[in-house]
Amino acid sequence: MNREDFPMLEKEYIYFNNASTAYKSKKVIDSIVDYYNNYSVNINRGIDSLGYSVTEKYEGTRKKVANLLNVKKSEIVFTRGTTDSINLATSYLESILEEGDEVLVSNEEHHAIFVTMQQLCIRKKIIFRVVDFEDLVNNINEKTKVVATSHITNVLGKRSEIEKISNMKEKFNFLFLLDGAQGIVHENLDLEKLSIDFYAFSGHKLYGPMGVGVLYSKHFDKMSPITFGGEMVDIVDTYETTFKKAPYKFEAGTMMVPEVIALGEAIDYILSIGYEKINSHIFELRKYLIEEMKKIEGLNIYNEEQIKSNLITFNFKGLHSHDIATFLDKNKIIVRAGHHCAAPLMKKLNEPSTIRISLGLYNTLDECQKLVNVLKNKEGYLDVIF
Ligand code: PMP
Repeated sequence: MNREDFPMLEKEYIYFNNASTAYKSKKVIDSIVDYYNNYSVNINRGIDSLGYSVTEKYEGTRKKVANLLNVKKSEIVFTRGTTDSINLATSYLESILEEGDEVLVSNEEHHAIFVTMQQLCIRKKIIFRVVDFEDLVNNINEKTKVVATSHITNVLGKRSEIEKISNMKEKFNFLFLLDGAQGIVHENLDLEKLSIDFYAFSGHKLYGPMGVGVLYSKHFDKMSPITFGGEMVDIVDTYETTFKKAPYKFEAGTMMVPEVIALGEAIDYILSIGYEKINSHIFELRKYLIEEMKKIEGLNIYNEEQIKSNLITFNFKGLHSHDIATFLDKNKIIVRAGHHCAAPLMKKLNEPSTIRISLGLYNTLDECQKLVNVLKNKEGYLDVIF
C-alpha cells in the first residue's frame, strides 16, 4: 500500500516498530523542507505577509486536528507530544484535586500516564488506584475523581471501554483523561459526542513529524498556563500580566512551526487513504502473523486474540527478548524489545521484557512472511547469540 510514498522504505530494513514511531511520508518531509526553503519565518510575529501566510498554515493544522476530532479549534493546543500533553492536562488535575481523592489507572498503561498520575498522587496526597485493565470500569465509583487510561494500549493493543467510561461520567463526577498515542493511528474519536475531558496524541506515530503533539480539552478556559513567556501574553504590566485566550496561552515562545504544518500533511495523508482501508490491511497482516507464529515451538504470544490492533507481543521460551531482537536486526528486521515503558504490565506478565511487532500501513505480506521464516530459524539465532 503506497510504499513509494515513504523514502525510508527504500532502505534495506523491514520495519516493524511503528508503534514506537512511524516512518514519515514524502509529503510530510517535503512540507518541512518547503518551510525552511520558502517561508522560513515565525508565526504571529511582525506584520509581514510571509509571517501571515505561515501563521495561516500553522492555524490550518489546528483546524485539521479539530475537524479530525470533531471539536473546536480553541480546544486544540499544540505540544511536544503525548507526554507533554498529559503533563499539561495534569496541571489542571493538580489544581482541583484534594487530599483523599482517587485517581484510577490500569496496570497496562504507558509510563506517560502511569508515572505522571503516580507522581501527581504523591505530590497531592491523592489515592492512586491501580487496577487490572479489564476491571477499570468496574472500579469507577463515587470516590473516583480521575480516570486516566489509554485509547489503545501500547503493548497488548487493547482498546479501553471508552464509550462506557464516557457514559459513566453522568453518574459519577470524574474527569476522563485519554491517552490517544496508539489509538489515533486506528480511529479518530468523535470528541463532541463522547465525554472525554482530555485527549492527547503525538504526530510521530501518525506518520507525522517528531516534536509535535496535541492536547484536546474543553477545560482550557479554566486552566492556567504552566509555561510563561512571549506570545502567550495579552497585557504585561510591572506587577501583573494577563494572558491570551486558549489555545494561545498554552503555546509560549517559539513553537515547532514546520512540524505543526507537517502534522497537517500527515492528517491529510491518513484521511486520503482512510482509516478503514488502513485498518483492514493491518488487521489482515496481523491475522496472518498470529496464525503463523502460533505454530512456532516455544513462541508465546501475549495477545493472540483477534483484536483490532497493529501489535503482536511475544517471547521465546528460555531466550531473552533482546537476543531475539538482535537476531532479527542481523536479518534487517526491526522490532522493539524491552519493557515498552509499561513496567506495571511487565510485572503482570511476570516478564522483564517482551518483543513487540507493530505494523504500519506500508508493511506487506511478503515482509510478514520473511519475519515468520526468520523466527522459525531457531538454530540460526542460537548460532548468533552463543
Ligand atoms: N502513550 C502511549 C500509549 C505510547 O505508546 C507512547 C509512545 N510510546 C506515549 C504515550 C508517549 O508518546 P511520546 O513519546 O510521543 O510523548
